[in-house]
Amino acid sequence: MDVLSPKSRQELEAELACLRSRLGEYEALEALSRETGEAFLRSLEGGERCRERLDAKSEELCNARHQLQKALGRYTDLFNHSPIGYFLIDQHGILREVNVKGAALLGQSPEHLQGAPFAKYITPLARPAFDHHLQSVFAGSSGQIELALDTPDVPALPVILETSLIEGMDEGTGPLCLAAALDLGSRKQAEKALAERTEELARSNEDLERFAYVISHDLQEPLRNIGNYVQLLSRRYKGRLDADADDYIGFVVDGVMRLSNMIRELLTFSRITTQGRTFEVVDSGAALKDALANLESAITESLAEIHIAPMPEVQADSTQLISLFQNLIGNALKYREADRNPRIRIEARPVGEKWLFSIVDNGIGIESRQFERLFMLFQRINPQGGIQGTGIGLAVCKRIVERHGGQLWVESTPGQGSIFYFTLPAAPSSH
Ligand code: ADP
Repeated sequence: MDVLSPKSRQELEAELACLRSRLGEYEALEALSRETGEAFLRSLEGGERCRERLDAKSEELCNARHQLQKALGRYTDLFNHSPIGYFLIDQHGILREVNVKGAALLGQSPEHLQGAPFAKYITPLARPAFDHHLQSVFAGSSGQIELALDTPDVPALPVILETSLIEGMDEGTGPLCLAAALDLGSRKQAEKALAERTEELARSNEDLERFAYVISHDLQEPLRNIGNYVQLLSRRYKGRLDADADDYIGFVVDGVMRLSNMIRELLTFSRITTQGRTFEVVDSGAALKDALANLESAITESLAEIHIAPMPEVQADSTQLISLFQNLIGNALKYREADRNPRIRIEARPVGEKWLFSIVDNGIGIESRQFERLFMLFQRINPQGGIQGTGIGLAVCKRIVERHGGQLWVESTPGQGSIFYFTLPAAPSSH
């Protein structure tokens, strides 16, 4: 049997120690590689998540690009199909872009115009002014210039060019002048047609006024005769014929009175513009006082309360101003609620170059659907209420206010009251 010598045993122990230390190293290495492996796996997972996020982002970008392309398409369509002609002109007067309408104004296709000098398409006479205008646009001032577009195939067309400076489209392009061309030819035609129509209307209005004047003036005389004779009949034969005859004569007298009132007011109406006096500085407070004096018996009889704010000086025909106040306040007294006394407030406040008057009442009020009809000739809203009237008063008021360059309108709540507003020109330096 072999017996180990003490020396070789020592050696063996040394080897064993060496082996143990190597084993320790291996174990440490194994732990390290395990950790590294796990870290690698973790980073792999992270990488996967990163990729997913990147995919999502690139989809978002794709969508955004699609939306942008759609928006660009829309704006290009808007630009091209705008009813206004657009020209993009560079600093040297060269056309960089033109929309369809712009090209049509010049009688060319948009492609044909790109790169062409804009001045070629305006009348020679307008070129120096246009060059000067273009310079001032590039110097920073936007504005407009009136000129005539001119091409061999299209007759010269007057336009207004509205110009402003915009950023260039591509890198390297400097700023550009955006010129919007408004076709003055058709606008001038429309203005001419409107002026002709206005003149025609004024003429027919004048004819109508003359007609109303002649009719109402000439009717007055025979009507007065009828009235006189019917009254004579009534005085002389009342009670001497039978009861029916008395009634009939009474109806005729009433009818003649009503007709005569209507004719008188129609005459007043037809005289507003033709026989109105010239405008002068008028104290509206004094005119109001005169109107109230004319209405004295109606005010006393209805126990009306009237409040008057300070009144301004206006530029007006004083007689017509009295009649305006008288008609409006007269109506406020007439169309009162049966169960309360009329309370009327008259005020004025400045609005720009005018005074805004208001006449507020606590009367029966008016339904809003009647507001327009109210101011028409012979239109009455409450004939069933038994209140006497001819339906001319408000038409007269409207005519008077319009003759003064003002406006007349109403606001009202049925059962609560109405406010009639009108504007009149202020007297020079009255506010
Ligand atoms: P008239 O009083 O002779 O009927 P107007 O032209 O003055 O004629 O008025 C037209 C209608 O407007 C009247 O019939 C009446 O119904 C209505 N109206 C006018 N003023 C008032 C008012 N202050 N309150 C209520 N209704 C009014």
